[in-house]
Order: sequence, then structure tokens, then C-alpha cells
Amino acid sequence: MIWYPYQQMKTMKDPYKIIDAEGVMLKTPEREMIDSVSSWWSVIHGYKHPVLTEAIKKQADCFSHVMLGGLTHEPVLKLADKLKNFLPGDLDYCFFSDSGSVAVEVALKMALQYYVNRGEMERTKVLSLTHAYHGDTFKTMEVGDDEDYHFILEAYGEKKNVIHVPTQIPALEQAFEKYHQQLNCMIVEPLLQGAGGMRMYDLSFLVRARELCDRYGVLLIFDEVATGFGRTGNRFVADLVQPDILVLGKALTGGYIGHAVTVANRKVYDGFYSDDADKALMHGPTFMGNALACSVALASIEVFEKQDYMAKIKRIEEITRREMGGFSHNKIKEVRIMGGCVCVEVKEADTLKGYQQFAYERGVFSRPFLNCMYAMVPYIISEEQLIRVLDTMKAWFL
Ligand SMILES: *Cc1c(COP(=O)(O)O)cnc(C)c1O
Repeated sequence: MIWYPYQQMKTMKDPYKIIDAEGVMLKTPEREMIDSVSSWWSVIHGYKHPVLTEAIKKQADCFSHVMLGGLTHEPVLKLADKLKNFLPGDLDYCFFSDSGSVAVEVALKMALQYYVNRGEMERTKVLSLTHAYHGDTFKTMEVGDDEDYHFILEAYGEKKNVIHVPTQIPALEQAFEKYHQQLNCMIVEPLLQGAGGMRMYDLSFLVRARELCDRYGVLLIFDEVATGFGRTGNRFVADLVQPDILVLGKALTGGYIGHAVTVANRKVYDGFYSDDADKALMHGPTFMGNALACSVALASIEVFEKQDYMAKIKRIEEITRREMGGFSHNKIKEVRIMGGCVCVEVKEADTLKGYQQFAYERGVFSRPFLNCMYAMVPYIISEEQLIRVLDTMKAWFL
């Protein structure tokens, strides 16, 4: 018996059974449909990509996994080296793990211990955004601001170590003024807050956050598990404003296998580098640096670079703006577009009831949540397929 994610099992409708997948298409026994969700935003090259599949097969013929405790191997060394060159500035120090949530946990642990290692014991708090989502494990739920997790607040009472601010500069400045001595880090999903409702905000907020973090000696963490690898129309938002710690997941392996990485800059790494064993980072997921995951991640980044994916994403954004331009309806609050993400926010969540089946019957897989009907398509989508996705979204309202 499978316990499905985010579902009331008693009332859940049967999930669609996938029997094959290729390019942007998912196949069920009855039909084919375009995956407009990219399997939770990860399958950026589409399914059954020959280069990625070959990379994983080749590695499986050699070995699939060895632990990183006391051992190392070519795929993980190559991937760390690749990331060092691919990522901006001195974001050079890669700690691998098996999921985005764990990679965020590692980032938060790094930030706290960075200050403990320096003897600054009062820096126990984290600054985070309202509507933040950083994963489903306990600390990530705490720094998150997801209504679905408010049962935790009911059970535990107020959050003691997390302060939430909206994406507005005056509120940010006030929070720094009040709490800067107690903060070890600020964590954000930069420019685009995904699971909190596809909320988009301005770069000036991040520029100000960087300035305040520098002034008060607070570490800045970018959780780019969702936004990384082009989704916002930037390779990484970290190309525009550089964080101290960058978290990548989801599209890291092109959606082939779960893997993630927490990348620290030189300053953070140096905060642990010591003759004192107690200053080491005590973390080590069993499957960190998995050889299949590293091989496919390397292949994914190579394809991303060689085939000019940034141009593909720009084209997706242009087509989306053209097709959605001026579209409105009295049930729609707002249409938002950024890079390879489009969100139609409706006034009442009820408006989206039945949309998934409606889309399915028109050959599109969609998974609306909260008040959001959205698409985050694989970057290899054709113009015709993208128009089909957008037409289906519009058709629901007509
Ligand atoms: C999906 C997501 C995570 C969690 O990643 P998992 O691999 O599901 O644990 C963390 N942060 C953000 C911004 C995400 O979108």
C-alpha cells in the first residue's frame, strides 16, 4: 500500500498510471499528455534523454554507489569541479546530499555552526520570508511558512528561532535592526517563491538583503532548489546577487535521480577549517555523492551549456508572454510570468476544482495547488506543445 504525498488518502482520486515517458510526454494506458509540471520542476531535459540515459547506464556498468566516508570517485570529483566553474564567485565547496530538504538542513546547520565555531553563541535565529517553502523535514518546516504545516505551531506554540518577513525592504530593514545580533543567517528562495504560491518579487529586495547581511555579519543562503538551472530566466539568481551558501536540487540531475548539493563560499568553508576536530561539519547522508546521480548531473550540466538552454528559456518566456498577454477573467486575480514559470492565480481555490481532469482530457498533465494554476515545462518543449499547455489553461476559464 502506497501512502501518497500531500494527500488525504480517504478522499484521494486514483493517480494516473505512467507506463512510458519520452521528451515532454507522459504515457498512460489511455493517452499521452504533456508534463507541464516537469515532475515537480526537475525534468528540465524531458524524459528518456539519450545523453543523460547513456551517462547513467555507463556508470551503472562500473559501479552505482560507494560511500564518501573514506572513499571518493571520479564522478563526484568531476561534478564538484564542474560546479566550481559553473557557479559564480567563490561558491566552490560542495556538500552533496540526497534531497533538497536535507541540503537545506545542511545549509542551516552550516550557518549555525559557523558562528558557534567562532564562539558567537547568541546567534541562534534565522531570518526567513513569509510564504517561504524550504522542504518537509522538521527544521525546513520551521523556517518555512506553509499553512499546511501550521499544525506544528498548534502543537509546539510560537517559533522561537525563526523570524519571518515579507518581501518588502522596510520590513527587512526593521527585522535586521531588531534582531541582527541574534541572527546567524537569512534564507530565501530568491526572486520566485515556489510552493508558497509562485510568488515573484524584485531583485532590489535581494540586493538590500545582501547589503544588510554584510553590514551585520549575517550569512545569506539562497535556496535555489526550485529556481536554479534557469527557471527564473537567469542561470541562477546567484549570478545576480551572490549568497554565502547556495542550495541546489530538483533539476541538478535533470530529474533522473534525487540528489542535491549545498555549496559554500570560501568564508563559510574557512569557518570550519581548523586543527580542532570539534569544528568539523558533522553530517553525512548515506547516499551523498552517489555515482549514478553525479554522472547524470554532469551530463545534465553539459547539455545545459552546450545546447544554450538560456536561449530556450528565453523563448519559452517570450511565447508565454505573447500567448497570455492581456488574458484576464473575473475569477483570476493575477497572471504572473518569470522565465520558465507561468502562474495564473485565482481569487478562490475552488475555481480550480476539476481542472486536473479537464487538462488530462486535453492531453496536459497539471497539478494546481493553493490558488495557483501554473506551468513549469521542460525546457525542450516545442512551441506547439507550449501553446497547447497555455491554451488548456485559458480554456478552463472560457
Ligand atoms: C522542492 C523544494 C525543496 C525540497 O526538496 P526535496 O528534494 O523535495 O526535499 C526545498 N526548497 C525548495 C525551494 C523547493 O522547491
